Amino acid sequence: MKPDTYAARIDRLRGGMKDSGLGALLVVGAKNVRYLSGFSGEDAVVLVLPDEGLLLTDSRFRLQAQEESVHLRIVEPAEKLSQAVPGLVAGVEGAVGLEAEHLTLAQWQAFQQEAPRDDFYHPVEGLVSKLRRVKDAEEIELMRASGALATAVMEYLAGIRVVGRTEVEVALDLEVWLRRRGSEGLPFPFIVAHGEHGARPHAVPRNEVIAAGRLLVVDLGAVVQGYASDITRTFATGPLSERELEMYEVVKEAQAIGRAGIRPGMSGMEADRLVRDVVESGGMGSLFEHSLGHGVGLDVHEAPRLGPKSEDLLEVGNVVTVEPGVYDPGLGGVRIEDTVVLGDNGATVLTETTRELAFLH
Ligand code: ZN
Ligand code: ZN
Repeated sequence: MKPDTYAARIDRLRGGMKDSGLGALLVVGAKNVRYLSGFSGEDAVVLVLPDEGLLLTDSRFRLQAQEESVHLRIVEPAEKLSQAVPGLVAGVEGAVGLEAEHLTLAQWQAFQQEAPRDDFYHPVEGLVSKLRRVKDAEEIELMRASGALATAVMEYLAGIRVVGRTEVEVALDLEVWLRRRGSEGLPFPFIVAHGEHGARPHAVPRNEVIAAGRLLVVDLGAVVQGYASDITRTFATGPLSERELEMYEVVKEAQAIGRAGIRPGMSGMEADRLVRDVVESGGMGSLFEHSLGHGVGLDVHEAPRLGPKSEDLLEVGNVVTVEPGVYDPGLGGVRIEDTVVLGDNGATVLTETTRELAFLH
């Protein structure tokens, strides 16, 4: 990202701070810090003041901060953060915002203890994550690269042997392949789950040998300059039963309707309904128990949410997943997931690869 990009983000944040009656904002959530500063290490916070931005860190991160956060003044406070902040905001009018969703209760108490007066700090929520919902062109480029890496590992999987290997071995194989090709890390622990284990939407790979003739759910993603991608494909490890094939067809159709129909202006609830209707008319509504999807960005799960209760409004520049799934305990699960970016005319898929049922050996 260019230094100007970060400066513009901080300017936009100041608009939200003004609306919330804040004179300053202490940003402590690690991904929010990265969004505003470019700083990718641990243990730094951003203090946004009316006319400048500070990155507060310590000597361990001095060189990294100087390199990554050229648009901010880097400060290494000698005392604890809760003791340093009142001095740094001296003269600022209005309350100092603290990120309620990222501060622990113990930290909040420490800040309150050192506060010069009672209403010095205001807990606020979502000021930075609201900005993060709409991705700019630079972010979309990175997410495209992240999606391409995740797609490539899914295609690699289609050519390797899985039957007779354990779920853990296959997951490790995919993780190593991805790291060697440039993924900075794993956005979440990969899911490789066959047979009835795949009926758990968040299954953890086991040291169990993958059998032939079962469904195999694989959910993975990559990270490029902090930006995640998220893709799921379901495979067959040999001939399947009628019921399993029917589950696959229902999910495939629902996911296609979702990709084609989702657009800006819809609520998360409406997007979910569009896809859930297809699963319900396939007679499998009760097997689709999770939400349709979630925003993706610096976090693999972020705003907006796409689910039966979500009032989040979808906008141009949102990057979200479309991931219906059906899970039949005792038999297995089918989920098909893509990461998509929303434009004026609807969704463009960032994880494009076949959704036809593939048979692995
Ligand atoms: Zn996923
Ligand atoms: Zn997901």
